[in-house]
Amino acid sequence: MSASKPIVAIDGPAGSGKSTIAKLIAKKLGLFYIDTGAMYRALAFKAKKAGITPDNENGMAELAKAIDLDLRYDAQTGKLVVLLEGQDISEEIRKPYITEDVSFIAKIKEVREHMVRLQRRLAEGKRSILEGRDIATVVFPDAYKKFYLDANPAERIKRRYLEMKEKGIPIDEFSVKKDIERRDRIDSTREHAPLRRAHDAVYIDTTDMAIDEVARRIIEEIEKT
Ligand code: C5P
Repeated sequence: MSASKPIVAIDGPAGSGKSTIAKLIAKKLGLFYIDTGAMYRALAFKAKKAGITPDNENGMAELAKAIDLDLRYDAQTGKLVVLLEGQDISEEIRKPYITEDVSFIAKIKEVREHMVRLQRRLAEGKRSILEGRDIATVVFPDAYKKFYLDANPAERIKRRYLEMKEKGIPIDEFSVKKDIERRDRIDSTREHAPLRRAHDAVYIDTTDMAIDEVARRIIEEIEKT
């Protein structure tokens, strides 16, 4: 992967392993990591604080336009720090009250336009790996390598539940199931930039794969010329 071929795109539904894998690859290959889901979550957090509800499309678009957001990935610790107006909101944005709203906010056309602009700006001039729902289809349709990660719903629900438990977020498995089903539906049926596999993305079903195995498969593909 050279400086002239700088972007790796990973898309897929919640719990498909995108974040874990993208972070690992960023560390192994020294890439700049951009978690675009965290950006939509940061906007949901900002909206909560401002008392703006997801049905207020103009209000949401205004917030997105003015958002002061920065992402810092520390390859040493493997942690992503999300800064909103300089405040570390990395943990807060994983909580259920944010997850509940985020897909409704991400449906809004103008919101997406502002976020896509910001995503492109963050990646500009850097060898970057971005993960989300529309990276290969909309944000970087000319990405050097594109991947679509998937896993069966039961496995995705299990992974997300264990992840939340590990983070100490109190939630039961049934609520995680409902959340994943709802977001799958909204994200893949929305009008603007729905979750889709790009025709030229490498499809990887991670259901029965170990994290290292998925990472190896992707790195192999990236290093292929
Ligand atoms: O990846 P994560 O689960 O953190 O994403 C949260 C939500 O943000 C998704 O369910 C989706 O609604 C939205 N999203 C999006 N486009 C992206 C990344 C995330 O619409 N590129």
